[in-house]
Amino acid sequence: MPNATCSLCGHQADTEEAPLTWATSVENGRKLLYCDRCARDNVRSIEGKLDSAWW
Ligand SMILES: [Zn+2]
Repeated sequence: MPNATCSLCGHQADTEEAPLTWATSVENGRKLLYCDRCARDNVRSIEGKLDSAWW
């Protein structure tokens, strides 16, 4: 298993499991991971389940 990797910036965690500070989101059946920084930047769109096309 590869280490957890941020779906936005490609930052890799030190472990296979995403750290607690990371956020997860499921879009179109795929599990996406966001590192702490990206999660903070995108928390509104993640929680709001908004269209992510603008990313
Ligand atoms: Zn990131």
